[in-house]
Amino acid sequence: MKVEEKSKDIFNRIEQAAKRGGRTTGEIKIVAVTKYVSNKRALEAVNAGFVHLGENRLEGLTEKQEIIESPVKWHFIGSLQSRKVKDVINRIDYLHSLDRLSLAKEINKRAQKTIECFVQVNVSGEDQKHGLSPQNVLNFIEQLSIYDKIKIVGLMTMAPNTHDERVLRKCFKDLSRLKDEIHKKGYQHAPCTELSMGMSNDYEIAIEEGATFVRIGSALVGE
Ligand SMILES: *Cc1c(COP(=O)(O)O)cnc(C)c1O
Repeated sequence: MKVEEKSKDIFNRIEQAAKRGGRTTGEIKIVAVTKYVSNKRALEAVNAGFVHLGENRLEGLTEKQEIIESPVKWHFIGSLQSRKVKDVINRIDYLHSLDRLSLAKEINKRAQKTIECFVQVNVSGEDQKHGLSPQNVLNFIEQLSIYDKIKIVGLMTMAPNTHDERVLRKCFKDLSRLKDEIHKKGYQHAPCTELSMGMSNDYEIAIEEGATFVRIGSALVGE
């Protein structure tokens, strides 16, 4: 199915979810996650009007940037090794996976402009997941104020791999509360107004709970 056709269904679902959550669709941005698909398919997404693209590896990012000439916003959504920062950071607009001080320090050293960053939070506490424990997030963000290239625009999480709606909803609610708590502190370097949460399987619940960036791969661009 064409990306354009798939996207109609997704826009519909997003609109309904926004309504249920008492929100408007203008508050929600879709990051088209193109990490599994061909360059051609990624270009199709751009031609269908998607302006936020997500990749999780340097190689995929570079390849897609070579063929996509229109001005899209590039999101890096995977864990980022410090040694790759110098190659990645000036190719992207948003980083969704800031999770340690050593990474922040390296970004600050290599970035030529301000990078909009999400702090990745392991809300569900699963061992295999990247991200900070919720109780460490505030302290972590306070320590980032010395890095002038880093702006904390919000928090990101990956929900557990389950269809249990209660589990998913709780995860998103917890992240949303934490975001509000940090936002209220009024830190200049961390406005923390955004929530990057929701993927192909759970974006509707994420939107009901306040997501402002949903990262959708297979449901949107899957071949
Ligand atoms: C792959 C990936 C996505 C998209 O996953 P789908 O289930 O295909 O929508 C979103 N976020 C992150 C961090 C990912 O790695």
